[in-house]
Amino acid sequence: MSGADKALKAIRDAVGTKGWIGDGDGMEPYLGEERGLYHGTCAAVVRPAATEEVAKVVEICSHAGLAVVPQGGNTGLVGGGVPDGGILLSTVRLNRIREIDAGNLTMTAEAGVVLADIRAAADEAGCSFPLSLGAEGSCRIGGNLATNAGGSGVLRYGAARDLALGLEVVLPDGRVWDGLGRLRKDNTGYDLKQLFIGAEGTLGIITAAVLKLFPRPQDRATALAAATNLEKLLELFSRVHESRGGSLVAFEVMSRICVDFATEHVAGVIDPLRAKYPYYGLIELAGSGPGLGDALETVLGAAFDDGLLDDAVIATSGAQARQLWRLREAIPEAQKHEGGSIKHDIAVPVSKVPEFIARATAMVERELPGIRACAFGHLGDGNIHFNLSQPVGMDKQAFLGKWRHFNRLVHDLAMDMEGSFSAEHGIGKLKREDLVRYKSEVELDLMRTLKTALDPKGIMNPGKVVDGF
Ligand code: ZN
Repeated sequence: MSGADKALKAIRDAVGTKGWIGDGDGMEPYLGEERGLYHGTCAAVVRPAATEEVAKVVEICSHAGLAVVPQGGNTGLVGGGVPDGGILLSTVRLNRIREIDAGNLTMTAEAGVVLADIRAAADEAGCSFPLSLGAEGSCRIGGNLATNAGGSGVLRYGAARDLALGLEVVLPDGRVWDGLGRLRKDNTGYDLKQLFIGAEGTLGIITAAVLKLFPRPQDRATALAAATNLEKLLELFSRVHESRGGSLVAFEVMSRICVDFATEHVAGVIDPLRAKYPYYGLIELAGSGPGLGDALETVLGAAFDDGLLDDAVIATSGAQARQLWRLREAIPEAQKHEGGSIKHDIAVPVSKVPEFIARATAMVERELPGIRACAFGHLGDGNIHFNLSQPVGMDKQAFLGKWRHFNRLVHDLAMDMEGSFSAEHGIGKLKREDLVRYKSEVELDLMRTLKTALDPKGIMNPGKVVDGF
């Protein structure tokens, strides 16, 4: 028996039959992502049910020099959880909520708990957990933390990085770091948890976390506002932020073509306004209330009088508010029906969003006449999903063949405007070239130093983020 075979047998013994998938069909759902950009291979999918089992598995891998690719709900978009040999370690069976402390506003949950279940459990305890994203029905909190997920509440509550108070991590040598502190203040040296948050499983495996909860909002107001240009929408954002800063949870933007795609292709999605407009802002306030709806109406009314917006609708029920969000959330799904799309997840300073979208749109249209730029995303965070749909009638593969070319153009522009080439999706495999292109030598050197110090054998999620450069 070879060393690798011996290690695999020991791993199988450690996790039992329930924790082991070794056949091709069984492994298949773990080997690719929804976008279909990557398809991996591995010797086995291993699904430990407890932290000690994860530790045992990683210890065996460390001795054998076997690669470990951690994976949560497999909803990533950049290939970070796609294996290239070794074993895939799925956290799906680490799915217990260990404790909710409503008095301390914290929840201790294992890595494999589905985000929607975390949100529901917080709600049941009379609190709220504000991380919210399109994939919340299947993504898992360990993956959310490992990738520092963003979503639609970042403006008010921050990204995943801001929502963790403590972590439990299995290190690349199999030791367990119990950092499950529940403190709001603990200023005692390096903040170790931040090393693992956003590291995409390259420095260790997050097995549990202490999450920050918040008082459950007593009142909520949601509105859709239409404007003739982005400068006006940005001014509206400033006004709402100024007057309702503490309760402004989200300020999302969509261009008209996004609304066209969503209403055309996704059942049940409607445009609630009578006429068509170039840009839309989706605004949500939440807080202690009451009267958030009235407050929002006052701000929007004044903005209308000043010519900043052309029309608006304020939801009068929870169902109507969900309708408005559905319009925004249906865009990625709708875009699939328009042929190939080349995607970007950029950020620029909030004040530069209108300039970025104008310049980027003109640039890609010059490059390929007929290309359709769908700009939407989190205006309040300066994070735009600048997704390009192919010209009508063009060959899909020919268009997708231009992926790198357009990425380069769009990312160069974002970086030129003091931006980021990956605002919330991470690096994975997809953006490694960009990492090397845009990060300074000092930054890359610091990243490599951390990687080699924590994972000297290079077994944790090899070939991702900075590994190998
Ligand atoms: Zn987003």
